[in-house]
Amino acid sequence: CGGGSDKETVSYKVGTEPTFPPFDTTDEDQNIVGLDMDLIKAIGKDQGFEVTFENLSFDGLIPALKAGNIDIVAAGMNKDDKERQKQVDFSDAYYESQLYVVVAEDNNDVKSIDDLTPDMKVAAQTGTTGAEKVKTLKKEGKIKEAVIVDGLDTAMMQLINGDVSAVINDKPVNEAYMKKKPDKVKMVGKALNAENYGFAVAKGNDELLEKINKGLANIKEDGTYDKLVDEWFNK
Ligand code: GLN
Repeated sequence: CGGGSDKETVSYKVGTEPTFPPFDTTDEDQNIVGLDMDLIKAIGKDQGFEVTFENLSFDGLIPALKAGNIDIVAAGMNKDDKERQKQVDFSDAYYESQLYVVVAEDNNDVKSIDDLTPDMKVAAQTGTTGAEKVKTLKKEGKIKEAVIVDGLDTAMMQLINGDVSAVINDKPVNEAYMKKKPDKVKMVGKALNAENYGFAVAKGNDELLEKINKGLANIKEDGTYDKLVDEWFNK
């Protein structure tokens, strides 16, 4: 820090994949917005840093962090994933979620994951926990094809068009799509897992991780967290 000169506010690059409402999405002008963006902005305000957002594919987020092209991942990312933990450091959890099977509203045959059959195609977003599940189903011979796509909006569109029989994805995001396109898709069966979303930083970036954890605790304490969750889930 320069002696005597005004302290400049640090700015961090935050990477996300914005087809994951209400956590990560875009507005009419294609700006990246969402609960994740508002949370990390509020954390930054509390801890004295600013943020800019970068649009990446989900499976490009961890590589971008490792390469130093971004400083933070804010993307509804499950922090309990052992493979990810080997590569990056995660903040304290900020949201609990589960994976569910999604089918077309008029599908009366698939009532749970056990009703998927070896003639079916099932879609998920690349690099996600949902994609891992779909690939496992394929490996076990329970489905015909794992359709792994870049954006979640593509997976949902394929489901609505009847190109795939099911999508496996996070519950709150499925609900956001169900709200956006009423009477097109529905969730069936039980939760396939439990996950905890965390913000990720490069391995060993303890200074930034500490700021994020402190800021997160503070915005939970002062009501900002609840207000933002409420806002984004009631849009
Ligand atoms: N929660 C899931 C994961 O961690 C999906 C995240 C996403 O698609 N943005 O893989």
